[in-house]
Amino acid sequence: MIKRRFTYHSPDSLDEALGALAEHGSDAEVVGGGTWVVPEMTHGARVPAHVVDLRRAGLAGVAESNGGVSIGAMTTYAQLAGAPLIAERAGALGTMAAGITGGAQVRNQGTLGGSACYATPSSDAPGALVGLDATMNLRSSSGSRSVAAGDFFKGAFEADVGDGELLESITLPAPPAGVKFGHYKLKLVESSWPIATATAVVGVDGDGRLTAVRISVGGVNTKPYLVDTQELVGSSIDDDTAAAVMTAARAGATDPYGDVLASGEYRQQVSGVVAKRALLAAA
Ligand SMILES: Cc1cc2nc3c(=O)[nH]c(=O)nc-3n(C[C@H](O)[C@H](O)[C@H](O)COP(=O)(O)OP(=O)(O)OC[C@H]3O[C@@H](n4cnc5c(N)ncnc54)[C@H](O)[C@@H]3O)c2cc1C
Repeated sequence: MIKRRFTYHSPDSLDEALGALAEHGSDAEVVGGGTWVVPEMTHGARVPAHVVDLRRAGLAGVAESNGGVSIGAMTTYAQLAGAPLIAERAGALGTMAAGITGGAQVRNQGTLGGSACYATPSSDAPGALVGLDATMNLRSSSGSRSVAAGDFFKGAFEADVGDGELLESITLPAPPAGVKFGHYKLKLVESSWPIATATAVVGVDGDGRLTAVRISVGGVNTKPYLVDTQELVGSSIDDDTAAAVMTAARAGATDPYGDVLASGEYRQQVSGVVAKRALLAAA
């Protein structure tokens, strides 16, 4: 039960939501799916005077966008997992969404935008968005701006969302022809949170050589990072390539994050394995 009184706003449009935020400033809390923010209000960790619930603001949905995909910030994991466009153009995001622990309740309620804005280091979504080269589209009552996912995640629990701003949508570019996707996460047990995740976008020619390779790692550093794979284009997918990916992923683990699930040192150690498994899952 939430013990403190607050005024509940349920805007019917993005403009109305932005108006409520502009009016109430730091007294207002935005609610996406509410899977984080509502428990925090229940515990008393957040005590807003105003709550702006985005559920009716028209921000959910997956649509075609210049050969890529546009995803409304309020799109739930279940909607992502079931969207044919996601399967076709950004398969790793569908795999990621289907694999969120917490059961159908969390997958039906939690949103991609909420996960991105909360920027929990070990969440699945931030790393996947960096791997897929996403662009984050933000709006405030004074204008709009777009930020590359790689810049949007600034650190542990720190995303580039300013006062009075809302994440409106996320766009993914058209994938290079014929690429395949992989998302891999390391967990302690089936029901636990990810310790480390990796997302791979991989192109392979008829001779089994890599034509494109982009791999991101999440959960290891305080924010997701890209593995340096430049040298690997043209290589076959064999043990040498897998070893090179592991070495490069570990080299990128320069700012490791530790929590109750695993130490930073452990995460650094496993970064190579998760990157390799995402590559193999894609290829
Ligand atoms: C039991 C359980 C299991 C879970 N398992 C996993 C897992 O395996 N992997 C994983 O990655 N995550 C997992 N999660 C976390 C889940 O991914 C997040 O709770 C969820 O994505 C947050 O989204 P939300 O829409 O509920 O955000 P909310 O709780 O509504 O909001 C989170 C934060 O983002 C802000 N916000 C929300 N939407 C916007 C917006 N459009 N613009 C600006 N700010 C916004 C809110 O103000 C708040 O600060 C789990 C959660 C639970 C409860």
